[in-house]
Amino acid sequence: MDLYSQSLHYGYSVFEGIRSYRNLNGDTRIFKAKEHFDRMEASAEAVNMPYHWSTTELTELTYAVLEKNSLQDAYIRPVVYAPANMTFARNEKSYLVIEAWQMAPFLGDKLLRIMTSSFQRPNPKGFKIHAKAAGHYVNSLLASQEAKTKGFDEGLLSDINDFVAEGPGANMFYEKDGKLFTPAPGNILPGITRASVLELCEVLGIEVEEKLFRLDELKQADAAFFCGTAAEVIGWESLDDYKFPKAWNDTLSRQVQLAYKDLVIEKPIIKGSYQKEKASLVEA
Ligand code: PMP
Repeated sequence: MDLYSQSLHYGYSVFEGIRSYRNLNGDTRIFKAKEHFDRMEASAEAVNMPYHWSTTELTELTYAVLEKNSLQDAYIRPVVYAPANMTFARNEKSYLVIEAWQMAPFLGDKLLRIMTSSFQRPNPKGFKIHAKAAGHYVNSLLASQEAKTKGFDEGLLSDINDFVAEGPGANMFYEKDGKLFTPAPGNILPGITRASVLELCEVLGIEVEEKLFRLDELKQADAAFFCGTAAEVIGWESLDDYKFPKAWNDTLSRQVQLAYKDLVIEKPIIKGSYQKEKASLVEA
């Protein structure tokens, strides 16, 4: 990248975070490739960056990167960045890099200790918050570093109206009385994993509602989890000094977590097969 690029100086690039998995048959599959590359194009458009690639072409290129590097369970990071230009003016062209590295296939089920961040998510009137633009992520870094400095695993950010929004790099759901809730779109990045969770709930017959809610409501929940491409579905132990009371293995959230693990390796999702007795068989 040119050292005089707006990408370096102003955080002016767009990117994606994508996973590939070794599926049930041993093949390498990029999970939701179309959704990710379509979103990258939409992100570029949102911030006026020229975009020269098709989703099909990028999917093929990414499979080639994985193959060349003998990767199956990988994290994939395409970045679209700007040429040399120290003004604020638009550019005629953009550049692309696709990076990929090995991801551990399964990181275990440790529950997270979450802290309410002192940072809010960016004002949607000040940013195109639906775009995965690099500059927005200074907000994510601040929130995550704050939480880790204070001994927590991750931060939770609210929006400018004090409604619960999302984590630095993941969406969230909570569970209460046999139903799931997640922040309504508007002031969040509407994640691809979030969409997968909504679809899984539909298949599994789990009731779910998108709505705006505040921290006091979340601190009465039975359980909660983050979801994102990198995080997958990962449960919370606590939020500040509130400990989620329901045993993780007894939650609907746990069923969603198990179903997601199957979805990414293209195992058929069968309603009823993630209930507790079966869940412990899966763990065995
Ligand atoms: N919110 C933010 C701020 C993120 O960076 C991410 C990760 N892309 C998500 C949510 C989850 O999105 P996805 O499921 O598409 O990875």
